[in-house]
Amino acid sequence: MIVSVASGKGGTGKTMVSTNMALALGEKLTFLDCDVEEPNAHLFLKPEKELVELVTTSVPSVDESKCTFCKKCSDICRFSAIIVVGTNVMVFRDLCHSCGGCMVVCPENAISETGRELGTIEYGQRDSIRFVQGRLRIGEAMSPPMIKKVREASFPDQLTIIDAPPGTSCPVIAAMNGTDFVLMVTEPTPFGLYDLQLAVEAVKLLGIPAGLVINRCDIGDRKVYEYAERQNISVLLEIPFDRKIAETYSRGKSIVEEMPEWKDKFLRLYRDIELHLERLKETV
Ligand code: SF4
Ligand code: SF4
Repeated sequence: MIVSVASGKGGTGKTMVSTNMALALGEKLTFLDCDVEEPNAHLFLKPEKELVELVTTSVPSVDESKCTFCKKCSDICRFSAIIVVGTNVMVFRDLCHSCGGCMVVCPENAISETGRELGTIEYGQRDSIRFVQGRLRIGEAMSPPMIKKVREASFPDQLTIIDAPPGTSCPVIAAMNGTDFVLMVTEPTPFGLYDLQLAVEAVKLLGIPAGLVINRCDIGDRKVYEYAERQNISVLLEIPFDRKIAETYSRGKSIVEEMPEWKDKFLRLYRDIELHLERLKETV
C-alpha cells in the first residue's frame, strides 16, 4: 500500500502528519520525502544516512560537424529547448524535458545524449523505517523527474508513506499519481479551504480515494468541515492548536515520542485509512 500525504498549501502540517504516522506504526515501511525542493522529513525522523546517489537526466548534445541545420529538431521540441539560428544549434539544457524527440527526428544522427544533474537521492534507516529523500539541485526547475526517481525506491510488498510537495501542480501530481490513498492535510481557514478545494479537484482527476486531517482544528471556522461533507471526504484526524505540539515540532521532535498520548491517535489514523480502503473494495 502507498499512502501519500499532501496539502494544497505549505505550512499546514503535512510533514508533521506523515512523519508521526510513520513513527507511530513502528513497523517495516518505506518513507519517501518527495518534497524535493525543500525536504525536511529527515529533521523529524533522524535517519542514519547510508548512501547518496547522483541523479541525472538526459539532454541533447549536437555535433555541428554532422548538422545540416534543417531545423527538424527545433520544430519538434515543444519546450523551445533546442533552436536553430542560421548555422548554430543552441540547446537550453534547463528547458529540456528529456523526451528524446529531437534525437529521433534528426536525419543526420547529429544529436547524442548527455547528462544534466537533477540532484541527489539520499538513503537512510531509522529503526524499522527505510528512509529515502530527493534533493533537487539548486537552480534546477524540473522536480517531477526527480520525484519519479524517488518513487522508484518503494517496495511493492511493503507500506510506503510519501511526503508530497505542497501545492496542486505537476510535482504534487507526480508524488500522488498511482498511490492507493491520499491523506490531505489542511486547516480551517479561508486559505486552507481554497487550497483544499484545488487539491480535492486534483485528487478526483487522478481517481484516488482520500481522507482529511484538519490541523489547528480549533481556529478559523466550519467551512472546511462543510466542504468535506459535501465532497464526501471523511475527516480522519483533528489536531488542535496546542502550544506544546507547536513547540515540539519547532524543536524538530516528533509528537508521538514527546507526547505518547498521540501515538494511538496516529495509529488509529492509519487503521482508518485501511478500513476506508477495505470498505471501498467491498463496494466494488
Ligand atoms: S535535426 Fe539534426 S541535422 Fe537538423 S538541425 Fe537539428 S541537429 Fe541539425
Ligand atoms: S529531448 Fe525533447 S525537450 Fe529536450 S530538447 Fe529534445 S525535443 Fe526538446
